[in-house]
Amino acid sequence: VNKIVIVGGVGGGATVAAQIRRNDPNSEIHILERSGYVSFANCGMPYFIGGEITDRDRVIYSENDFAEKYQLSIETYAEVTHIEREKKTIFFEKNNKPYEMDYDTLILSPGARAVIPDLDGMESNTFTLRIIEDMDRIEAFISDKKPKTAAIIGGGFVGLEMLENLHRRGLQCSLVDHSEHVMSRLDADMASHVDEHITENGVDLYLNDKLESYSNHGTTLHLQSGKSLQADMTLMAVGITPNIELAKDAGLELGETGAIKVNDVMQTSDPAIYALGDAVEEVDFITKKPAHVALAWPAHRQAFVIASHLNGEKIQRDGILGSSIFRVFDLTVAITGQNEDALDKLDIPFEAVLSKGYSHAGYYPGSEKLWMKIVFDPKSGQLLGGSVIGPKGADKRMAVLATAIKGKLTVDDLTDLELGYNPIYSGSKDAINILGYKAREQWKKANK
Ligand code: FAD
Repeated sequence: VNKIVIVGGVGGGATVAAQIRRNDPNSEIHILERSGYVSFANCGMPYFIGGEITDRDRVIYSENDFAEKYQLSIETYAEVTHIEREKKTIFFEKNNKPYEMDYDTLILSPGARAVIPDLDGMESNTFTLRIIEDMDRIEAFISDKKPKTAAIIGGGFVGLEMLENLHRRGLQCSLVDHSEHVMSRLDADMASHVDEHITENGVDLYLNDKLESYSNHGTTLHLQSGKSLQADMTLMAVGITPNIELAKDAGLELGETGAIKVNDVMQTSDPAIYALGDAVEEVDFITKKPAHVALAWPAHRQAFVIASHLNGEKIQRDGILGSSIFRVFDLTVAITGQNEDALDKLDIPFEAVLSKGYSHAGYYPGSEKLWMKIVFDPKSGQLLGGSVIGPKGADKRMAVLATAIKGKLTVDDLTDLELGYNPIYSGSKDAINILGYKAREQWKKANK
């Protein structure tokens, strides 16, 4: 029997274990997880803290149920410390005792960790959110200490989701971001809608600013601009760094982005060792350049690619779009592919189109505005990326754009998509068609 050892038992690790078992009833599968939980829903944690998910068990898959369902062994509180590739053996520590385990195939899914800048005066009221233990710490602090104010440092999706949820818990929130606008994957003209909405919800927004130090037991935050703010708790969400140490120490190759380098079937530079998830480098679908995309969809897709490869099938792939979607207060923000800023930096020619649409027919109650932006290739007219923001229907429009990009459709093709009309759901010309008509004109002009 093939003995498969998996390091990290959550987004990528648990998924690859389940996928392998579906194809293969015989292999021996072992999961080693440093934290106390496997297969938990990282993405659900902000909503438990906010109180929308009321039952903690809903975000946690029981270790025993998981092991039984997929017929595998799980070691929690087991930190893998070292890989000896020649001996095909990993070394791990559990309860301060050393253990070792041999493998035929090793799969690394150690994820990433939150970046915590080393700042003067930081105390235990500053939190990050990656694992269940972090979620429990935040929940316990809110329940026990009853903080009234919170600062969120970093306006990426984790920061914005936590902003919404701490606000829901009744905390007066401030958000600090070092750039000109929140969410760097949005261009300024789209992000401004998010910035405005955050401010409308009573959040104190500090842009172009940075947290430099704390005083007063970690409750006074001093910013680079000289401003200071009060916060009973701080959530640090300034970015993540892939957990590459195990791979690096074992002499596995790293990529240009600093994450673990893998081939198209997710093998590292050692063919007996696969890697996936937030720790690996992928190829961007549009630019074909190395990209580090730390999202759940790529981890799940990569799990399928690995399980298929172990089962003798090679899945053809052509890169990652990094489609992502989240909610901040009443707005859904949905993004796929590249934006104007990113293409500019890479010197890739593009045309950009902004369009305002509606979630559904204006005469049917509850119709809401949609802000949309796409970028496309001026020659071929093919879509390179898009973002959609609005209280309703943004998810569907972004999904159409993501599908169009993968299908290599042109902006003209967007005019010809039959997306189904009923006043409850759409206009007789959908917002996507209208965007297409606008972009089509611009494409024609660009080619005159
Ligand atoms: P993880 O799921 O983080 O798992 C890695 C595991 O490896 C960890 O549990 C860690 O303890 C363990 N580990 C690390 N080193 C070792 C070691 N040496 N030995 C043993 N175990 C080790 N993505 C989306 O697409 N949509 C969302 O809405 C979304 N929301 C999110 C919200 C939050 C708060 C967070 C933190 C992430 C969110 N993500 C979301 C990202 C998504 O969860 C990750 O992309 C995905 O979980 C990646 O899977 P992974 O296996 O690489 O890492």
